[in-house]
Amino acid sequence: MIRAQLISDKAQYAARIVRTLRERGFAAYFAGGCVRDLLLQRDPADYDVATSATPQEVMSIFPKTYAVGAQFGVVLVPVLRDSEDGERENYSIEVATFRSDGAYSDGRHPDQVKFSKSAEMDVQRRDFTINGLLYDPESGDVLDYVDGRADLGRKVIRAIGNPHQRFAEDKLRMLRAVRFAARFGYTIEPQTFSAIKELAAQIHQVSHERIRDEVLKMLTEGQAKPAFELLDESTLLQHVLPEIKKMQGVAQPQEYHPEGDVWVHTLLLLEGLPAGCSKTLALGVLLHDVGKPPTFRRAPDRIRFDGHAEIGTKMAAEICRRFRMSNEDTDQVCALVANHMRFGDVKKMKESTLKRFLRLPDFDEHLALHRLDCLSSHRDLELYDFVREKIATMPAEQIRPEPLITGNDLIAAGYKPGPQFKEWLTAVEDAQLEGAIQTKEEALALVERMAQQESSR
Ligand code: ATP
Ligand code: MG
Repeated sequence: MIRAQLISDKAQYAARIVRTLRERGFAAYFAGGCVRDLLLQRDPADYDVATSATPQEVMSIFPKTYAVGAQFGVVLVPVLRDSEDGERENYSIEVATFRSDGAYSDGRHPDQVKFSKSAEMDVQRRDFTINGLLYDPESGDVLDYVDGRADLGRKVIRAIGNPHQRFAEDKLRMLRAVRFAARFGYTIEPQTFSAIKELAAQIHQVSHERIRDEVLKMLTEGQAKPAFELLDESTLLQHVLPEIKKMQGVAQPQEYHPEGDVWVHTLLLLEGLPAGCSKTLALGVLLHDVGKPPTFRRAPDRIRFDGHAEIGTKMAAEICRRFRMSNEDTDQVCALVANHMRFGDVKKMKESTLKRFLRLPDFDEHLALHRLDCLSSHRDLELYDFVREKIATMPAEQIRPEPLITGNDLIAAGYKPGPQFKEWLTAVEDAQLEGAIQTKEEALALVERMAQQESSR
């Protein structure tokens, strides 16, 4: 059944690597996620090979290799291929030596690994039964030492061996369990799930970067809502993102938010995040109302969240910093949170303000967030349609016209460079965006009026 699927380049190369290793007398199989995906008839993201050859042996067999994790038994075998547009492009097959892992004293990495000649032993150190399958691309046989195929049939994520022990060894596996369950729409087997609940508070032994990577995968694989529900049920949420946990039970005004509290609203938005969406949009969506819990107030007329976008922006910056996001990504996530309420004003905005709003970097992400925000509450897309119409009908040169003048023009006109330059140039651009001026001469005349006003003050 799997054979028919092995048509991709990657599968072919992985199969060739297996054959080469076998010709040299070693055992070798496809291992882990790729076997699971092939059985599920999903296209594996990458193919991993497990072998009895040691890293040294693997490196001596293939002409070019990278010893990325040779101490853990992992060697990358790069593959050069011709891609469709004729360019040479590189990807690598991960070749890992069968091993058993020693003790784990830091809650994440084995203190030492012991290479082994036994495929069965190698499977025992893997995380979940569905990830513990081996495949022989020559015979077409699946080697299943852990009842992984049955669990695929049952749609269950089950730890290999004693769940408590396996999560105690490596706390990252708790997040992986949630991610795989959400991705495939599986349940987490009860004992595996109880072990996660018992150990959830220890997730902090995992680095912020690894937690971030798992959370971002959960958000961008198309199943963000079930992933966050499972994070909550497993109690991991309060340890990984306490700011999101605090959204629960925070009531909202019925007339704007018939769907329920801030948590329910946020989950509805997550449900709308498509697979493959950008991480900045995903985080912007997750965090857009993160400022609501701390600003909740029952005013005489209704529940209010004054300043929630501003407070939320600060909180988003803090969360991005904790997640070690790049400055560029942090700026975009913060911009999404900071601007999400401004859609409410688009019809009242001055032309220049509206154009500046539409010019925000990656505006399509602001628009996507706003759309999800509407669909997850009152379901009225009037302002979304208004903005889309504006973008569609306004030529780019109207939204972002060439500046009529620059600082150099001001110097040439005899002005002394100073802090007013920026003010004047902004005022000139405002007038230009409003359609009040069209030429360099008009721009300089405007500056002259402003300069006279200032000197007569
Ligand atoms: P994905 O489709 O997300 O890549 P995957 O199952 O391929 O899923 P990887 O992180 O690529 O996951 O890891 C490959 C294999 O290595 C897994 O299938 C599993 O057998 C093993 N593995 C990965 N991480 C761990 C871990 N923390 N503990 C135990 N085994 C692991
Ligand atoms: Mg993988």
